[in-house]
Amino acid sequence: MVDIAARFNEIRDSLPDEVRLVVASKSRSVEEIRQVVEAGARIIGENYTYPEAVRKYEELGDLTDEIRWELIGHLQKNDINKALPIFDRLQTVESVSKARHIDKRVEKAGRETVPALIEVNSGQEENKYGIDPDEESLKEIIDGLKDLSHLKLEGLMTMGPYSGDPEDARPYFKVTRELFEVGKDYVKGEGSMEVLSMGMSNSYEVAVEEGANMVRIGTGIFGPR
Ligand SMILES: *Cc1c(COP(=O)(O)O)cnc(C)c1O
Repeated sequence: MVDIAARFNEIRDSLPDEVRLVVASKSRSVEEIRQVVEAGARIIGENYTYPEAVRKYEELGDLTDEIRWELIGHLQKNDINKALPIFDRLQTVESVSKARHIDKRVEKAGRETVPALIEVNSGQEENKYGIDPDEESLKEIIDGLKDLSHLKLEGLMTMGPYSGDPEDARPYFKVTRELFEVGKDYVKGEGSMEVLSMGMSNSYEVAVEEGANMVRIGTGIFGPR
């Protein structure tokens, strides 16, 4: 059996202080999440709002108050109303139109604002969501988000193409980091560019070298899915 607490601590201790660790818990049981939270994890990332995240949120009961929940998987329009009461931040906003749909529903969910990251499809993969990794696309979505009073921009997120060799991910992290810097200059007080979420179990060290200040790790903590 995997010692979840030991693995969590080892990874957390290896990260620089300014890098946040999101525990990616898709397909993991409530019991496994309980273990990692008891080991000190405070940020949980879920991929599927309904039914998975909703069910886990309910089953974790009081423990949810200790945790920040981040949506790291694609948000379907139909799931927005279910996501808003659960997630402290949505990391996967990929278009102005999706952002508008979210913005319209924030107040109804009893919230003032919802923090969000823009997802960048850094590898321009057909099966992934996100804006194209160029300045024009970034500026266009930032401009669109400026009109929205409830959705609060906080940074960028990317996955990048999967490969067995973490070095293959470096160019995609680099390009996302460059956009992050462009975004910092461009937001000008309407939202912010503080969070750069990139890197998974096999690539987080490279991601941190390229400027990530948030990494998302699943199998490295829980073992293979
Ligand atoms: C599953 C997932 C992760 C974590 O991947 P591992 O390889 O299990 O560490 C990170 N980010 C996203 C968006 C994911 O879906």
